[in-house]
Amino acid sequence: MALITDLSGKTAIITGSNSGIGLGVARELARAGADVVLNSYTDTEDDHALAKEIADEHGVTARYIQADLSKGDQARALIEQAGTCDILINNAGIQHVAPIEDFDTGKWDAIIAINMSSAFHTTAVALPMMRKAGWGRVINIASAHGLTASPYKSAYVSAKHGVVGMTKVVALETAKEPITANAICPGYVLTPLVEAQIPDTAKEYDMSEEEAIEKVILDRQPSKEFATVEQLGGTVAFLCSPAGDQITGTTISVDGGWTAL
Ligand code: NAD
Repeated sequence: MALITDLSGKTAIITGSNSGIGLGVARELARAGADVVLNSYTDTEDDHALAKEIADEHGVTARYIQADLSKGDQARALIEQAGTCDILINNAGIQHVAPIEDFDTGKWDAIIAINMSSAFHTTAVALPMMRKAGWGRVINIASAHGLTASPYKSAYVSAKHGVVGMTKVVALETAKEPITANAICPGYVLTPLVEAQIPDTAKEYDMSEEEAIEKVILDRQPSKEFATVEQLGGTVAFLCSPAGDQITGTTISVDGGWTAL
């Protein structure tokens, strides 16, 4: 994909970025010239090697900062430790599926904390940094489940709807400043997590992998194609470009038509 913006001199913090969408977004922002801060709750050699790989590939500064975003104080410390933040991507997220009457309370609390409250804490610390720099982007990776619901995903759907609501509030509180806040709502994205589900789903439904993708996994995605982490990275880069200066307080769906149904 061609570059649509030059982000040299900007620092992007991407939560939950040692895999999947977060890593794809970090790679795309680094490709556009931004210095990047990667994060997850682990602190392994592989985590730090990822940052080094991105720095070497794109000639930017890339750091890995460990923080468990289920804890508000660690979410705040992540931004403080980074020291500067022009672009904040709230991406960390987990999932748990169960009928509401059986839904584990600990799992509910963890999903609300990681998928929603962490974005409140990081944004609260990042906004003053953006104001000081005179420019900023808050981009929350919500979900098609921030706009629609599915059974058995009470915590996830609640958290993602909450993130979409918080995005609008941040946009209004920064409306007169050169700062924007938006949510991206992906449908199914081909990440290692989703890829790993394909053989099991095919086995469970006694189908070929192609059939399982089309009829089960992408049942609600009319394009019958996964979105890719590169497309998510490109959508983030677009919001960071000058074309995004007046786009604020909205959602951008990258869902192959899911929410048009
Ligand atoms: P993933 O599991 O590959 O990535 C999730 C990231 O969050 C990982 O880096 C993980 O380490 C991190 N994380 C989890 N718990 C954390 C914690 N306590 N503290 C810090 N980091 C933590 O999954 P993904 O598919 O890349 O998902 C990324 C985001 O995109 C999530 O918010 C998810 O809800 C959203 N999303 C994904 C899809 C999809 O189809 N993959 C669709 C819609 C929305």
